[in-house]
Amino acid sequence: MDAIFILSGDFSAEKGKKGRGRDETTGVICIKVYNRKAFGGSGKLCGEQKELTVGRRGGKGGARKGARKEGRSEGKGGRKTGQERRPEKSELQSGRKNFFCGPKNSGRRVAVRGKLWYNRSMEKLRTDVHTHTTFSADGISPMEEMLKKAEEKELAFYGISEHFDYDYLVNGIPFYGGEEATYTDPDAYFPHARSLAAAYAGKLRVLVGGEFGYTDNRKAWTLYRELEEKYRPDFVVNSVHTNGKYDYSDSENRPYRNADGTLRPKSEAYREYFGFVRRSLDVPYGYDIVGHMTYCTRYAPYADRRARWEEFRAEIDSILCGIIARRKILEVNSSCRGAAGDFLPGRDILSRYYELGGRKLSFASDAHDVSRVADKRETVVKALRGLGFDRITVPCRGRHVEVEL
Ligand SMILES: [Zn+2]
Ligand SMILES: [Zn+2]
Repeated sequence: MDAIFILSGDFSAEKGKKGRGRDETTGVICIKVYNRKAFGGSGKLCGEQKELTVGRRGGKGGARKGARKEGRSEGKGGRKTGQERRPEKSELQSGRKNFFCGPKNSGRRVAVRGKLWYNRSMEKLRTDVHTHTTFSADGISPMEEMLKKAEEKELAFYGISEHFDYDYLVNGIPFYGGEEATYTDPDAYFPHARSLAAAYAGKLRVLVGGEFGYTDNRKAWTLYRELEEKYRPDFVVNSVHTNGKYDYSDSENRPYRNADGTLRPKSEAYREYFGFVRRSLDVPYGYDIVGHMTYCTRYAPYADRRARWEEFRAEIDSILCGIIARRKILEVNSSCRGAAGDFLPGRDILSRYYELGGRKLSFASDAHDVSRVADKRETVVKALRGLGFDRITVPCRGRHVEVEL
């Protein structure tokens, strides 16, 4: 879809009405759909135009003040409402905050409240929030190279989420990556990532976060809380990697085997995994995203590795409803390692999430090297649109930024 939503119009040209009993004013703005060439030179309005009634909460005269401010930010001189003009590039890289909008003449003063975010290349997904670098034991490419690649791919938001595998630490699980491997050092990672994020300001929004490995062992919960208090990550991906003894990626497939080495039934091993994910929703540390749900399907030794909603309805519904109730974000992870599908979780689970009212989705390549930055985003966009989703959610310090798909 070659389309861009542009907010334009001029509040001051429209006489505002004071809301009854409220300190708010309404005016008219337009949301227009332009083609991409608008920024290459043609600037033609190519699509629909919708008028919305827009109000603005605030203190005394807040709405009028806000209106004039909006007018100024759009360029010199007054314009009449709805007047066409070529949008400026700078407008596309900034959001307008705290609008609440409703269809004109709907009789409802407030229909939708939230943030509008412009997206200048909507045919591509421009967020990748869950990636790693050499600060993680299994990271391959340095942070500088990953960010360069993210900029080349015209991402708007890029989230680094190094592994903090305290599930390994507290449960005494031998650390992966060989004898030389070390845990992510937060004293090295956070300052380095934040300085690079500052260097990319205005070009790419770099979020500095972490991926926390969930375990039932409460000692890890304390460590994660301490980490959050000290380093204040921009976002946290809460992921189940282990069953408390072995990683689900274990080379000997031990989470899927009995003590005598025989294979456990898939239903049993997967139900156990889903139990961990369900419990991971209730941790006392802060997190934003439920990472790679159905992670076990990446590595399971079964001929058919998929975890279908049909087979695990109760377990999956409990997780999806739990995510929705807690206002968390379900991750779509394009790292699948083979036969389980194009992304995790599968279409059937995402469809069920939508059906249950879930709308908050994040996109993650889970890249550990430059070749996988934003990997399969086109496939994911197509699939999500097909399922009815129209936005991707990006978490940042407790706020959720909605980016149009
Ligand atoms: Zn992970
Ligand atoms: Zn990861």
